[in-house]
Amino acid sequence: MKKISTFLILIVNMAIAQAALDIQKVTDNVYALVGETTQRSPSNLGNNSTHGVIVTKDGVILIDSGASYLGAKEIHETIQTITNQPIKIVINSGGQDHRWLGNDYFQQLGARIIASSKTKQDQKVRVDYHLDRLGGLIKQSLDGTKPLFALETFDEKINLKLGGESLELYHFGAAHTVGDIVVWMPSLKIMFAGDVVFNDRMLGIGPARNTQSWIEVFDKMAEFKPEYIVPGHGKVSDLATATKNTQQYLVFLKTEIGKILENDGDMLEASKIDQSEFHFLTGHQSIAGRNAQWVFEKMEFDY
Ligand SMILES: [Zn+2]
Repeated sequence: MKKISTFLILIVNMAIAQAALDIQKVTDNVYALVGETTQRSPSNLGNNSTHGVIVTKDGVILIDSGASYLGAKEIHETIQTITNQPIKIVINSGGQDHRWLGNDYFQQLGARIIASSKTKQDQKVRVDYHLDRLGGLIKQSLDGTKPLFALETFDEKINLKLGGESLELYHFGAAHTVGDIVVWMPSLKIMFAGDVVFNDRMLGIGPARNTQSWIEVFDKMAEFKPEYIVPGHGKVSDLATATKNTQQYLVFLKTEIGKILENDGDMLEASKIDQSEFHFLTGHQSIAGRNAQWVFEKMEFDY
């Protein structure tokens, strides 16, 4: 009997076990918290995303607050294994759920919450969609989540200072979402690229539906010649890797769809283009065909 109950306890514990965020140290005092590259799930609390952490002598700057109240709490608890400094600034790098639905948790701890003005608009427009979708995907892990829109906004550029560190925040245009920004740390040449860069998993064209603009935003980001890129998804990398995983894939889609349009081809042809060169990116089975269709739709409209 004892054996059976121990076994049952084990099963229950497994069922509620959280998928931990991997801590990837970038340099002294800079870390990436790397979530799963799979879909949002009850165990990952919606955090299928990468988050940036900068520890200064006056507190922590966090890039992206997580997809839920519990997701934010998990991020906070992970940061507490690195430092006991308080979270002073939270930056929302874009308008997707995992970039901002944990804002309320961190605001209660006294953090400033900053985003581009386009992102704040996007948060307002898509909040109901995000909560509906997350309810289906992460279920009870959404409990306690209260959407809090960014409290401070900027249009194109803002400088932030905390504890002797300086950051430059840039909104160059739409990428994965309409308000995506990149966060540049000049002292260490680190770029927190949010959803402008997807590593390890295949990007989704996203709600902004503007491949050309995303390529331009990526190229402006690349002009800084970052030594390290903390992406929106996947592991920290150099610029060459980020270029291969994100920019080259976008250019590939644009080029291939362009050829189809020139030959009066249709959407069906678009969904059949050979994307095997990018099959090293996880999740390609579910997203590659849709990406091609979305790019076709937009380019056909502009043609
Ligand atoms: Zn994302």
